[in-house]
Amino acid sequence: MQICSRCIYDETVTGIFFDEDGICNYCRIMDRFIEQFQTGKPEGRNKLDEIIKNVKKDGKGKKYDCVIGVSGGTDSSYMLFKLIQWGLRPLAVHYDNTWNTAIATENIRKVLGKLNVDLYTYVVDNKEIDDIFLSFLKAGVPELDAATDLALSEVMYRAADKFGVKYVFEGHSFITEGISPIGNMYFDGRYIREIHKKFGKVPMKTYPLMDFFAFMKWVLFKRIKKIRPFWYISYSKEEARELLKKEFEWEYYGGHHLENRIVAIQHCFYNYYKFGMDNRNLSLAAAVRSGIMKREEAIDIYFNHPPYIEEGLVDYFKERLSLTNESLSEIMNSPCRTYRDYPTYKSLFETFARDIIVFCAYITDIESSILTAVFAYWSVFITAVLP
Ligand SMILES: [Zn+2]
Repeated sequence: MQICSRCIYDETVTGIFFDEDGICNYCRIMDRFIEQFQTGKPEGRNKLDEIIKNVKKDGKGKKYDCVIGVSGGTDSSYMLFKLIQWGLRPLAVHYDNTWNTAIATENIRKVLGKLNVDLYTYVVDNKEIDDIFLSFLKAGVPELDAATDLALSEVMYRAADKFGVKYVFEGHSFITEGISPIGNMYFDGRYIREIHKKFGKVPMKTYPLMDFFAFMKWVLFKRIKKIRPFWYISYSKEEARELLKKEFEWEYYGGHHLENRIVAIQHCFYNYYKFGMDNRNLSLAAAVRSGIMKREEAIDIYFNHPPYIEEGLVDYFKERLSLTNESLSEIMNSPCRTYRDYPTYKSLFETFARDIIVFCAYITDIESSILTAVFAYWSVFITAVLP
């Protein structure tokens, strides 16, 4: 089996191809990103300084000049610390899907308390969100946690709008999180609505669904811009964690995005055992590319050791969703389906992708804002929009 000579993506990764040096297209995309954003270079830093200057200018006279989504995880906690260091006045926003670990909740409290940052929390009805998760399990698709990702985005936009803020900061880093393989997973507002309509029982009332029109409203009409500082400056998760532990007695929860139980179930159990999908390859490949981990070590972890499942996690999952051993085994053994089996906006977007991007670039003013927004929503098209 061919494995990329630089990272650990192998030939089973969707959409992969290797060049004459045996390096995969995802590593090359990363190179192009670094080139485009001048990540970690003085030029990148200057670009970010310019953006921060604008955020401060636009925030004059307002209570907050930006909004940041917090989860209690490494990236968002550290991002918040940086925002304060840069002299910004953020409002922290948390979307509570009611599956948080106690560590995550405590982390949010510790960091915000010490930095004296206000928190805006949106809590979804737990019966309703469990019904949405259950719908995804019944649909047999891998994007179990899509509802959380999309809702966080929607809630950040709502909070920004409520306080007249024009900037939403995100702790995303394409360097530490890697590039999602094209066509592997996909989700959008229509996908969530249709799956829930087909398999759900509890009406969708409190879930903050971001459909296409909501997205367009935030980005095009309200002109709220997403900013990802780690795309411009160098960022090390390891150093961030050390700092957070020292400054805030912040606690690590053992893996990428595992601060939330439903995410942990998706990554370590559901996707791995039902679809044979190991989401660790993203962060492992990223760690190898940036030299944090030896390639051999990552290959060994990825191919020889299954993901660690915290004790009691599967029992919690079963109890929350009222799953018996039989019903869980039925879910795990039912046919594997993908987003292609259900209605999404994808086909519409594929047809008009270039037109939409050109239009958006035309009417917005910050160079990368629309691209990042489009990336956030349709991350699978990441290659299509690059020069
Ligand atoms: Zn590679």
